[in-house]
Amino acid sequence: MPNPTEHCPDCGVGIGARHDTDCDWAQCAATGTQYLMCPDEGPDCRPDHWNGYMGGGKEAVDLGWWIVWVPPAPGEVGGRFVPCPPDMKDAIPDTQRVMRTHKWDRARECWVR
Ligand SMILES: [Zn+2]
Ligand SMILES: [Zn+2]
Repeated sequence: MPNPTEHCPDCGVGIGARHDTDCDWAQCAATGTQYLMCPDEGPDCRPDHWNGYMGGGKEAVDLGWWIVWVPPAPGEVGGRFVPCPPDMKDAIPDTQRVMRTHKWDRARECWVR
């Protein structure tokens, strides 16, 4: 299981600090969507805090939700992600599942069920 990354891989802020406004890894503090893609223009629309993981990653790690990429079998088109144990090689947190099953809490700036 990976430890949190101390600095954002894109804008370089430390854990607990707000991402730069041009950071690819920032989520919108108001909606939880990727900040650079956020359609909302309200006053609360701003980059959220870096928590050591990509968007939804911390929540997925806490829940033990991991996936791994399975390449296409011969004759098949495209591969797919399948659920896997946390200690599997190349496993990544299942952030899509977090975003499907959770709601963004704008007060706490995290995904909640
Ligand atoms: Zn950042
Ligand atoms: Zn926004």
